[in-house]
Amino acid sequence: MKIAIVGAGIGGLTAAIALGQRSHDVTVYEQAPALGEIGAGITITPNADRVFTALGLGQALAPYQVIPQRQLTQHWQTGAVLKDVERGTATAQRYGAGYYHIHRADLHSVLADTFLKACPSGIKLGQPAHLASADGRLPLASGETVAADLVIGADGLKSQVRETAFETDRPEFTGQVAWRGLVPTASAAGLPNMDTPGVHIGPKQLFLRYPVRGGDLTNYAAFVDVGDWADEGWTIPSSRAELLGYFGDWDAGVVALIEATPDTELFKWALNVRRPLSTWVAGKVTLIGDAAHAMLPFMGQGAATAIEDAMVLARSLEGSDLAESLSRYDAARRQRTDAIQENSRLLGLQFQGKDPADQSGHRIKNEEELGLFDYDATSVAI
Ligand SMILES: Cc1cc2nc3c(=O)[nH]c(=O)nc-3n(C[C@H](O)[C@H](O)[C@H](O)COP(=O)(O)OP(=O)(O)OC[C@H]3O[C@@H](n4cnc5c(N)ncnc54)[C@H](O)[C@@H]3O)c2cc1C
Repeated sequence: MKIAIVGAGIGGLTAAIALGQRSHDVTVYEQAPALGEIGAGITITPNADRVFTALGLGQALAPYQVIPQRQLTQHWQTGAVLKDVERGTATAQRYGAGYYHIHRADLHSVLADTFLKACPSGIKLGQPAHLASADGRLPLASGETVAADLVIGADGLKSQVRETAFETDRPEFTGQVAWRGLVPTASAAGLPNMDTPGVHIGPKQLFLRYPVRGGDLTNYAAFVDVGDWADEGWTIPSSRAELLGYFGDWDAGVVALIEATPDTELFKWALNVRRPLSTWVAGKVTLIGDAAHAMLPFMGQGAATAIEDAMVLARSLEGSDLAESLSRYDAARRQRTDAIQENSRLLGLQFQGKDPADQSGHRIKNEEELGLFDYDATSVAI
């Protein structure tokens, strides 16, 4: 099949590799003029790592992985350890797949290089899609219109493919703002427990940190429920003073990391979500990743589910009838991602000391307790 993928993010590139390996004729159309990812880290959980292993990426990714031995949950102010989970070989043995931290740019470049090696002209840059139609036509900025057997919208939270081919809502601001920083790990050297990755939890706020790039850098994400805020974008400049306004009286390790962040490298963005769609199929168009199911990041499963989508979609398309293949993909995936979207929202409330039990009637389990790491996109029934 001739397949047009809109968006060269983590989801789009994983799909391109998986579909290319199944001999489809794949082209990725990316709006940005150059390939790249934001300067931040990402955690790859076993459910995502299984897909990368099946795609043969294990060796290429290995040099960039930081495999944590343990992972802490800590009190926001005292830093006291509330929970200590064993990772490393314990997690690898339990799931038969890896759990690791990686710089997003390193992951992205492995994915792009792998796809481009197999398909050297397979990514078209500076090609924003404004419209996808159910008959597979995709008009491009260049004036050319691509006629594809299948269009895959992998164009993220503000997906144009979703907005033009599906009946959908607009992204919805959740009241949460996230800051991200990348600082030398040595900034918090000697402070208690700061040599082990962890999340500090406090009322209406969270501070997540883990090492990347061989452990030399620490990536952090700080979440604050600000209620009312409306700036758009992923890279809105912030400042240490602004972030310390929220975290200045937190554990010394948290404060040390924030204080080590140059103002020029501190960014914030609003957390938005989309409501679940009733179908991911519109004729010859389908969706993966944030375009299909943008979620809050509290389970760290946004990219992981995009990676799962890519594998399940590629497997579903092994059938000969497109409509049937897409409907199998939709049936195999939507229930899982709907549930993860909802549980990520509820877990965020629980982290922030609100009472999600009021809304769900039960204590919210985290991603591991929910069994999300067990999912095997390479063999799940479709
Ligand atoms: C603070 C934070 C921490 C996170 N941590 C984790 C984590 O640890 N683990 C995890 O699994 N997930 C994590 N996530 C979620 C994860 O980052 C996203 O879910 C994931 O990047 C989505 O991938 P995607 O490919 O669907 O979309 P994106 O990464 O958004 O990629 C979309 C691509 O499409 C392109 N594009 C957009 N519009 C167009 C257009 N009209 N035409 C052409 N191209 C277009 C964009 O330029 C981009 O390249 C985190 C999210 C946040 C906010």
